[in-house]
Amino acid sequence: MLRVPPNSALIIVDIQNDFCKNGALGITNSDYIIQKVNHLRQHAAFCKVFLTADWHPLDHVSFRPVALENGSPISEEAIWPIHCVEYSDGAAFHHKLIRAATDTIILKGRNKGKDCYSGFGSSAEDTGLLQGLRSLGVKSIFIVGFCTEYCCASTAQDGVKHGFEVYLVEDGCGTLSEETGRKTIADLRGAGVNVVSSNDLLM
Ligand SMILES: [Zn+2]
Repeated sequence: MLRVPPNSALIIVDIQNDFCKNGALGITNSDYIIQKVNHLRQHAAFCKVFLTADWHPLDHVSFRPVALENGSPISEEAIWPIHCVEYSDGAAFHHKLIRAATDTIILKGRNKGKDCYSGFGSSAEDTGLLQGLRSLGVKSIFIVGFCTEYCCASTAQDGVKHGFEVYLVEDGCGTLSEETGRKTIADLRGAGVNVVSSNDLLM
């Protein structure tokens, strides 16, 4: 078994086809990460598992090709290829990710005018994650998924802001590059996030 504090929730960030190998914004070692995430959820006693999903309308502000096509001024948020369009295959959870009927799905990035990396939402969007965690009396959150530099980091930082004990499981998070991943991990440590390896949780 893996040991986590009482009242711990697991937040699995964006393990969707578009963020996996061969996806629009694919993490190359996604298969390895998914295995790690599955192992963690099966061997640690989390009181709840939340699955976040990037879930964008087709004309989302973050889609650079759409902004270029429209010929309108390009927002600084328009930095990504088209990905995780709501109800598309790319937005579906990867088939190797173990899920349970009791998991709660948190959709984010639904506001077409503002991007949202954090599972907690943004000034334009309430995802319900905070309320979900509080209603269960969760004290600690463990974060895994894709990708370290953006959605995992942003969710972790918001978790700290909201008063949770936050753990980022480094080997359960996929990075865009080793270099940016390392820098992000250092920044998160500085922001009060506990960065751990799944091995640290072995009893
Ligand atoms: Zn997105």
